[in-house]
Amino acid sequence: MLLQLKEITKTYKNPSREIRVLDKISLGIARGETLALTGESGSGKSTLLHLIGALDGFDAGEITLGDVRYSGLNDAGRAELRRTRIGVVFQQFNLVPTLTVDQNLAFHSRLAHRTDSSWTAEVAERLGLTDLADRLPEQLSGGQQQRVAIGRALALKPDLLLADEPTGNLDEQNSDAVLQLMLDLVREVGTSLFMVTHSERLAARLDRHVHLRLGQIA
Ligand code: ADP
Ligand code: MG
Repeated sequence: MLLQLKEITKTYKNPSREIRVLDKISLGIARGETLALTGESGSGKSTLLHLIGALDGFDAGEITLGDVRYSGLNDAGRAELRRTRIGVVFQQFNLVPTLTVDQNLAFHSRLAHRTDSSWTAEVAERLGLTDLADRLPEQLSGGQQQRVAIGRALALKPDLLLADEPTGNLDEQNSDAVLQLMLDLVREVGTSLFMVTHSERLAARLDRHVHLRLGQIA
């Protein structure tokens, strides 16, 4: 297993009450495996993705990625893990608005000092972005912007790609095309994929599909 979650519990506390969003979740993802997570709005899908991405802490249990145990990491260790081993794609694309497509594609690998120009160029080509290299995000369609975000995350060849409703802002035709490109690339790189989606139709295209309900995985 690349990723292992063992009895993960997450509670949000507000002044009046506690909400236990995740209740002893155990889950594994093998190296190169693609896994879809569905669940109703508010069921805790994004919370779980944030924990796997070391973007937020959990109350109990353990997450391991390869040989790294999350509970043993400090802030710097979590930042290092995110920078070097995990790619993230969000529904809102989150490109840097002042940078061109090419600059956005290279952004994370440059931060991690792992620039590989020939691989970045290949990713751009595979995602159909070569002719858009000098455009700014505002000059792109939603589908094009999300392809840049996917390329930016995979330019690092991460062990794990996390995608939170990556096609949530796209129409059905664009959703299918973008998902297919993402699946082709992660399979080529050998990256594992954890994808949150509302769509059972899209979830069915991944290797495995689990459902989150009442804090537990079914
Ligand atoms: P999903 O992505 O499945 O729609 P979320 O993980 O975003 O669900 O949210 C799960 C539950 O946790 C919701 O009830 C939400 O209101 C609550 N929640 C999410 N983030 C916070 C937070 N930072 N503080 C308090 N409650 C939160
Ligand atoms: Mg969500």
